[in-house]
Amino acid sequence: MVVVMSPQATDEDVARVVARVESVGGEAFVSKGVVRTIIGLVGDVESFHHLNLRALRGVADVHRISDPYKLVSRQHHPERSTVWVGQPGHQVPIGPDTVTFIAGPCAVESAQQTLEAALMAKSAGATILRGGAYKPRTSPYAFQGLGVAGLEILADVREATGMPVVTEVVDVRDVAVVAEHADMLQIGTRNAANFGLLQAVGEAGKPVLLKRGMTATIEEWLMAAEYVAQRGNLDVVLCERGIRTFEPATRNTLDISAVPVVQAASHLPIIVDPSHAAGRRDLVVPLSRAAIAVGADGVIVDVHPTPETALCDGPQALEGAELRELAQVVRRFPELVGRQQARTPVAVV
Ligand code: PEP
Ligand code: MN
Repeated sequence: MVVVMSPQATDEDVARVVARVESVGGEAFVSKGVVRTIIGLVGDVESFHHLNLRALRGVADVHRISDPYKLVSRQHHPERSTVWVGQPGHQVPIGPDTVTFIAGPCAVESAQQTLEAALMAKSAGATILRGGAYKPRTSPYAFQGLGVAGLEILADVREATGMPVVTEVVDVRDVAVVAEHADMLQIGTRNAANFGLLQAVGEAGKPVLLKRGMTATIEEWLMAAEYVAQRGNLDVVLCERGIRTFEPATRNTLDISAVPVVQAASHLPIIVDPSHAAGRRDLVVPLSRAAIAVGADGVIVDVHPTPETALCDGPQALEGAELRELAQVVRRFPELVGRQQARTPVAVV
């Protein structure tokens, strides 16, 4: 940590900072410049936080040098992690060696619609099925999902297709039942700062797909992942799904640079959701190309057998020609970046 004193700071102001730091067992190294004095702190950063140094007379700024997140940081864990999704013996990797293709309907609407969407996804090369049984809708009048009945459909479709399932949990009260049915728990953008929910999924014993909060900085997003990790669950996959900006041409703005930025800062895998980023089916293929090219560890997209009747997010759902084009992209592009498309199911011994 570094404390920057203001140009007007007196020797007493500097001495006060040094005394405070030493009072909690830290060391303070004072370096006097022509205009300003800078104090380097060595010791336990958390104890320095409690000192509220920024409020002291003569202090202009306080900077952290080490990451505020620890368990998910790459500083102490330089190897990038792989997260395995699915039942033992039938697990799909999400990590640095592969590009994992996840697809399925935005929402589980019926057994038939979910099975059809899963078969479409599977024949396009997807190895994990997505689909929401609990939908976090902006409007309370919109379709909220089938709940437990939707989870049962997902479990049946997993049985029929062999595809592990990722599905969203929106409420702490549902974590146990979702974890019972699903292979991976999704935290959506609207709950990315719901710290109680993050802690609860951290204790649920299943991998977590953590979407970026729509107004979250990368640091805030990694701090959200830290909440999960702190409860003993390091099987977290991050998902860039677009952020809110001034640009209305797309539903959100896909922050493609978040992929390499996150990979430099954290060992956790990161995938991209071009469907929820763009909100437009015509952009899903080009954004998927961009995601794989920039080094994403996977893509997650919406597919639907009849997008025009979809109860949720029909305009972004793929079918037909666009899905076939995406299948080509996920088959060919990984090789360009020295990876392989993740196959299902990968037997782990
Ligand atoms: C979803 O994936 O179904 C979803 C609601 O996404 P997001 O939380 O990114 O809006
Ligand atoms: Mn959706």
